Amino acid sequence: MSTQKGNIGVTTENIFPVIKKFLYSDHEIFIREIVSNAVDATQKLKTLAGKGDFKGELGDLKVEVKVDKEAGTITVSDRGIGMTADEIDKYINQIAFSGANDFLDKYKEDANAIIGHFGLGFYSSFMVSDRVDIITKSYQDGAQAVKWSCDGSPEFTLDDAERTGRGTDIVMHVSDDCKEFLEKDKLEGLLKKYCHFLPVPVVFGKKQEWKDGKMEDTDADNQINDTTPLWTREPADLKDEDYKAFYRTLYPMADEPLFWIHLNVDYPFNLTGILYFPKIKNNLDLQRNKIQLYCNQVFVTDQVEGIVPDFLTLLHGTIDSPDIPLNVSRSYLQSDSNVKKISGYITKKVADRLSSLFKNDRKEFEEKWDDLKIFISYGMLTEEDFYEKAKSFFLVKDTESKYYTLEEYQALIKDAQTNKDGQLIYLYAADREAHYTYIDAAKQKGYNVLLLDGQLDTPLVQMLERKLEKTTFTRVDADTIERLIVKEEQKGEELSAERSANLSAVFESQLPKTEKTTYHVETQPMGEDAMPVVITQSEYMRRMKDMAKIQPGMGFYGEMPDMYNLVLNTDNRLVKDVLEKSEAATAEALKPIEAELRGLNARKSVLQAEQDKKKYDEITDAEREDMNKCTQDIEAQENKRREVLAEYAKDNERVHQLIDLALLQNGLLTGEALTRFVKRSVDLL
Ligand code: ADP
Repeated sequence: MSTQKGNIGVTTENIFPVIKKFLYSDHEIFIREIVSNAVDATQKLKTLAGKGDFKGELGDLKVEVKVDKEAGTITVSDRGIGMTADEIDKYINQIAFSGANDFLDKYKEDANAIIGHFGLGFYSSFMVSDRVDIITKSYQDGAQAVKWSCDGSPEFTLDDAERTGRGTDIVMHVSDDCKEFLEKDKLEGLLKKYCHFLPVPVVFGKKQEWKDGKMEDTDADNQINDTTPLWTREPADLKDEDYKAFYRTLYPMADEPLFWIHLNVDYPFNLTGILYFPKIKNNLDLQRNKIQLYCNQVFVTDQVEGIVPDFLTLLHGTIDSPDIPLNVSRSYLQSDSNVKKISGYITKKVADRLSSLFKNDRKEFEEKWDDLKIFISYGMLTEEDFYEKAKSFFLVKDTESKYYTLEEYQALIKDAQTNKDGQLIYLYAADREAHYTYIDAAKQKGYNVLLLDGQLDTPLVQMLERKLEKTTFTRVDADTIERLIVKEEQKGEELSAERSANLSAVFESQLPKTEKTTYHVETQPMGEDAMPVVITQSEYMRRMKDMAKIQPGMGFYGEMPDMYNLVLNTDNRLVKDVLEKSEAATAEALKPIEAELRGLNARKSVLQAEQDKKKYDEITDAEREDMNKCTQDIEAQENKRREVLAEYAKDNERVHQLIDLALLQNGLLTGEALTRFVKRSVDLL
């Protein structure tokens, strides 16, 4: 045939600059495209042979990748079906598409989208080459070998050529700015990434060995790939060791997986793969993006967001499906109905696997629970479908390391921990050591305490309260033991309001003043044997602050000070003693103030009663003035009263010691205050 010249079909003026420029960030995928074309051509020949349409000798069907640094070329050779001149014209020259400009504009950031959409796989070679040659000979009897050559402009040449056997060589003359791809290690790395599991042997040079002080080629081929990766094989033929070994080839540095699921569906979509449950420590983000996505054994991506539900991106392993539209943009992916079905299927499979492990081997399940918990919690929090399945095998662990399902736990605590309103109170601690005294007090009462120390436990608790009926979670330090679970209206001997206020003021005046901490002091009869002073932290505020740490948009709570309650046990002899002594010592000074206060308060009640009879705008300015004055006077007397009590408490070692002990127990005693406490304790001894 005489040399042919021609222009590559239609709008290619646009294609080359786009391929070269916009696809720059992804340009390493050329190797995937060219090698998988070679693999396809080989597979096609095998299919023809299988049907009897090709009767010749198949021979060695490996695909070879060679790099010639001096010539500056990368060559990919196959012994597949090859192409005739007509076929080159049809498949390579005529890139038929319409609306190219619009499309290129829209997807210029996304190399996969462009390449996949137009079957431009071959043209991706121009991302790294100044010129590409195709030397090919069709498998058909008497075929003439041809050479196609193109320098990246829309012009190409097509000539007769010499080639001994059937098949195709793609010769890429690598451009100056892409010389890195001529480095053996670089290219081998890319082949390992994209071609690791292709179904036809891919060979890159020879295996090397150490000889006479240097690395030398051996006779053995350096095969890049495993042509029958584990997921393509029958689960029945595989042993645990096979799965573990495959995991090691995927992630050489990782800990052994907890267990795995072998996926295998052919209807209503095609999907195979192996998903591993890794040991997830307490860092969710480090664990992501370890699932590799394949399309007929060709590596596509390890960015699986949008394809599987978020919580499943924590799993490791491989998914292979020709039915995932891989070469399209992410937003398209997320709305694709096949993708939705696939993601639903995987969620179900994962839940089923966990459920069967739970049913068949509860002991093993419990042993793995601590590693699994964060994953399952995450799934329950983010996928309603998963919650529905997981609620039957979700476990809670108590402070004695016993595990229960939600149902079992409910039954366990129902009698002892239902309050007077019929709410079931789940008590929990976040730290076995720090909450020791509270846990201990709860146990004395016959309560059970859960250990909720996981990264996702705060939102989980919020969710369980919504899902489970009449259920409240309360941390053991949220209130005094008597009030954690209120069984009936508290009777006990309460102090009169006045005495309670005075006692509270004694203690309040001596509390440390720190910027980010506030205390509210109150009194309560808690029994003679209970601690004299107990510090509690309201469940609500504490939980909101915990949420603020993990949820953006709740920063407001994070800014709030830590609020604690300091509860004085009026049954305790030490507190009683402070009460009596302080009353005796301050009675004289307080008498006129209290008399004054009684008068003012009585007057205020009268004024209030008069105002209540009137509509808002009938109240005169004078009346308002009166009321304000009265309120201010009361405030002034209250201050005086507090001053008297503070003056008394200032040098009272017992008050200081009681406060410090309570602070110490909660890790709130630090710095100078701690030093003073130690000194005072030594002196007391
Ligand atoms: P796609 O592979 O998506 O069809 P490509 O641009 O990669 O698009 O290839 C276009 C066509 O060129 C292929 O469909 C195939 O018919 C032909 N082709 C490419 N590479 C080879 C090869 N190594 N051997 C035989 N035919 C090939």
